[in-house]
Amino acid sequence: MQSVINLQELETTLGINYAASIQQPIEHPLLEQHDVAIEVKRDDLLHPVVSGNKWRKLKYCIHDALCAGHEHIVSMGGAWSNHLHALAYAGKALGIKTTGLIRGEEQQVNTPTLQDCQDWGMQLQFVERTTFRQLREYRHHADPPAQTYNGYWLPEGGASTLALKGISELAREIDTSSGQVFVACGTGTTLAGLIAGAGTYPLTGIAVLRAESFMQKDINTLLGNQPANHSWSLNFDYHCGGYARSNAALDEFVHDFELQTAIPVEPVYTGKLFYALFSLIEQGSIASGSRIVALHSGGLQGKRNAV
Ligand SMILES: *Cc1c(COP(=O)(O)O)cnc(C)c1O
Repeated sequence: MQSVINLQELETTLGINYAASIQQPIEHPLLEQHDVAIEVKRDDLLHPVVSGNKWRKLKYCIHDALCAGHEHIVSMGGAWSNHLHALAYAGKALGIKTTGLIRGEEQQVNTPTLQDCQDWGMQLQFVERTTFRQLREYRHHADPPAQTYNGYWLPEGGASTLALKGISELAREIDTSSGQVFVACGTGTTLAGLIAGAGTYPLTGIAVLRAESFMQKDINTLLGNQPANHSWSLNFDYHCGGYARSNAALDEFVHDFELQTAIPVEPVYTGKLFYALFSLIEQGSIASGSRIVALHSGGLQGKRNAV
């Protein structure tokens, strides 16, 4: 039986603050020199823990699970997963049991992220690579892992079609007077939600991993292969060697960016996003006079990974 769960009450309990997600202009000598304006949509400020796009993606999934009477949500991720971190915290705050399936063996993957997840009551189960890879194929909440683990199944990174609904709300908050929007892409779900959302501004996704062979297709699948209002594209030139890989140039950029703008970023997602943007501006690939909105999607807990 479906019960009525008030989503706004859930968000109040959790402490989500949409008003905090302002659109903030930044200053940097490079921007002045090239006459490009960047505003940062500060979705990292939605909540101190439940990080930006992860709450946007989770909200309708959690609501759906609760409305259908589920008391247990099961998902998967790596040892630094922002998605599991947000889910574990939300589960604790909202009284929902959570389980996280983690790639690897327990001895190898004791990270501060997983420690937090456990402290917030998430059950961790470690699965080996082949199983983990198979689990990635399940994208619907009632897929086989739901039976195996007896709960509501959420795919890795919260990459479900219901996630698009929350991101569409974000799309409507973005003010883009004649501008274009840039966003960091892991699964591509956030970009898909922006494409599905209101508006017609051009969108560029910066891939933070080697995803040339699947990200475009995954986004089209999430969109139900419907034609989009937006012109959108993916850029694969700034993954810096792969997911969570870094190099000296990226590390230096992150440091400089934070000094110049006082906006915290981390090297896994938003660091690569701004690194790409600044590099494209410097090369002249982004024309002078351009107006850009960059989405700060949160994820700052991952900073603990940086050495
Ligand atoms: C997960 C994450 C992303 C990637 O989002 P997708 O919807 O998977 O593309 C981007 N930025 C941050 C900070 C994230 O945590």
